[in-house]
Amino acid sequence: MTFAIQEQQREAERLFSVLHKTNWTKDECDMLSPLTLQIQKLKKEKNAIILSHSYQTPDIMYGIADVVGDSYGLAKEAQRSTADTIVFCSVFFMGETAKLLNPNKTVLVPSRSGCSLAESITADDVKNLKKQYPGRPVVCYVNTSAAVKAESDISCTSGNALRVIESFPDDEIIFIPDMLMGKNLQKLTTKKLILWRGTCIVHEQFTKERVDAIRQQYPGVKILAHTECSAGVVDSVDLAGSTNDMLTFVKQTDATTLMLATECGLTDRVKTEYPEKNIVGVCSLCPYMKSIMLRDVLSALKNPSEEQVVSIPEAIFERARQSLEKMMTL
Ligand code: SF4
Repeated sequence: MTFAIQEQQREAERLFSVLHKTNWTKDECDMLSPLTLQIQKLKKEKNAIILSHSYQTPDIMYGIADVVGDSYGLAKEAQRSTADTIVFCSVFFMGETAKLLNPNKTVLVPSRSGCSLAESITADDVKNLKKQYPGRPVVCYVNTSAAVKAESDISCTSGNALRVIESFPDDEIIFIPDMLMGKNLQKLTTKKLILWRGTCIVHEQFTKERVDAIRQQYPGVKILAHTECSAGVVDSVDLAGSTNDMLTFVKQTDATTLMLATECGLTDRVKTEYPEKNIVGVCSLCPYMKSIMLRDVLSALKNPSEEQVVSIPEAIFERARQSLEKMMTL
């Protein structure tokens, strides 16, 4: 048996030891192994780091990624890294965030995927809002384009949105673009939030009825939801928070039966990293996040196309960066 074949077999076994937890077969791992090996070798040659959002598929999260996390955490991880190139397996606006925080590094996105939230609002929409509500500060959720960030006073994540809103002395704040998250925040603040009509197509699918049905079916279940879900869902779960909040809850809880009202990638992470937990209910797939395949990562590393290289026009770069920096300072 040649060394190359032995190497592929070892890689297939490594993949299977992790991916079987999310029902991948040994045959599938055998097929993946030449590709993951090639990606790992190129990664070393090019001094690249591969970052994967928690909503990616398990072959990306556990087959090739150096770090798995949420968008903001990953962008900060990239700042700590000495790699010359960052391959960001996620939607395009997250690649932009990584570029804003790492201007001297090459940032690649395997696929230039959109996002229903980020695409719900443009820089012109923000300008119009500012005209309509003069003097009100604009807080934008990090799930927005660099152009939208450039028109906003400050960015926020789902984890720190309330703190960011409360940091302004003003009584009225423009909060964009997530309407459902905005409504959830409105219940927690005395400030009046002026909202936009954007929604995440993944999280808006969960309903209070679905949550109640799961509670009936699985007595003692703990239900966790992302704050991009509707108020009905957020009010009826055991924890509403960010991806990180949910993972922390899973780590700390004694409960063995859990439902995660979020994207299926996070469910896959919990199944893999906390195999003792029983995950019930149905998760929701993000078609934008799931558009990335291993072969896209390989092509980005080998010879990136113009589309795969993240570049941000000079005219907006500094203002967009400041919107993120202000949040980090806070
Ligand atoms: S889950 Fe998908 S649609 Fe929802 S905010 Fe994330 S990238 Fe956008």
